[in-house]
Amino acid sequence: MELLTDIRIRKTTHSKIGEVDFTNLEFGKYTSDHMLVCDYANGEWQTPHIVPFGNLVMSPSALALHYGQTVFEGMKAFRMEDGRINIFRMDKHYDRFVRSLERMCMAVVPKEIFVEGIARLVEMDQLWVPSEPGTALYLRPFVFASEARFGVKVAEEYRFIIFTGPVPSLYAEPIKVKVETNYIRAGKGGTGFAKCGGNYGGAFYPTHLARKEGYDQVLWTDAKENKYIEESGMMNAMFVINDTLVTPPLSDSILDGITRDSLLEIARDLAYKTEERRISVDELVNAFENNTITEAFGAGTAAVVAPIGTIHIEGLDYSLPAYTKTSISSRLKLKIERLRTGKEEDKFGWNFIV
Ligand SMILES: *Cc1c(COP(=O)(O)O)cnc(C)c1O
Repeated sequence: MELLTDIRIRKTTHSKIGEVDFTNLEFGKYTSDHMLVCDYANGEWQTPHIVPFGNLVMSPSALALHYGQTVFEGMKAFRMEDGRINIFRMDKHYDRFVRSLERMCMAVVPKEIFVEGIARLVEMDQLWVPSEPGTALYLRPFVFASEARFGVKVAEEYRFIIFTGPVPSLYAEPIKVKVETNYIRAGKGGTGFAKCGGNYGGAFYPTHLARKEGYDQVLWTDAKENKYIEESGMMNAMFVINDTLVTPPLSDSILDGITRDSLLEIARDLAYKTEERRISVDELVNAFENNTITEAFGAGTAAVVAPIGTIHIEGLDYSLPAYTKTSISSRLKLKIERLRTGKEEDKFGWNFIV
């Protein structure tokens, strides 16, 4: 691609790629050879640098460590059938990154630094993009407040980093989730729609408690009444009720998932009925009693679809039927995978070929 941005490059002299067992990848274990680093200071973004992946030097008083100004994205690059590399829905990830940064009162990374930075980095580390079905190069762009100053304030210095790493296909077994009516993830007017670190930090403890009770995740409910489903762990929640794909509508307490959006679009394209509306816990109970609920799953970049086998609601475990190749969630997942590896025409314009 034609570069608009000046990116300084220092290549590694010791590639780590020989240390990776590509037949046995683990999520989050390996990082590729290079990373992009770009600082914001004196009111502007400085020249981005691509350098060997390595530890950072930073002050213990860096504001992000204390007051939580830290925002990230999670996206993937795929090896296509013809060997080229595709970065999936880059524009939509960028737009969400901007919304997260704005909500956290942080400096916004210019689009060309984001797009060209990712493209250059992926191009340089292209050997790291795995090719087994379902695998990908995970991309992690993030910004944190790097200013060294321990008084409470909005930071004036930030650091933008992108690093990448190969990840396996997650063939998730159906999980057990618990409807959470005590703790909440996000409330009206809060930061639930932003991909900021604090949302995760606050979710760990309730999730830990659910795990101790034998559940894999919590199904979050709304902060006001604990009556309506919000998200499934750190994924968007989707259900098939009366053969209709149903998911809660976007709000300031729900993250605008790119997988959620993609699955909805694909479902509409395949002429499935879809509804974005509130889903109450009572509706779920009724749907189980009438056998009208046939699928429930989390939607997110890491697994695409995480099927739910059991939902715990107020003391009772409700089971969903087994998932098969003809389940709507399986069909949608297959379709998204075919689309982004080029096995099917990219009619939505979602692919960015490096
Ligand atoms: C990242 C995230 C999702 C999923 O978003 P994708 O863009 O599909 O990966 C859903 N919910 C929360 C809370 C998240 O942080």
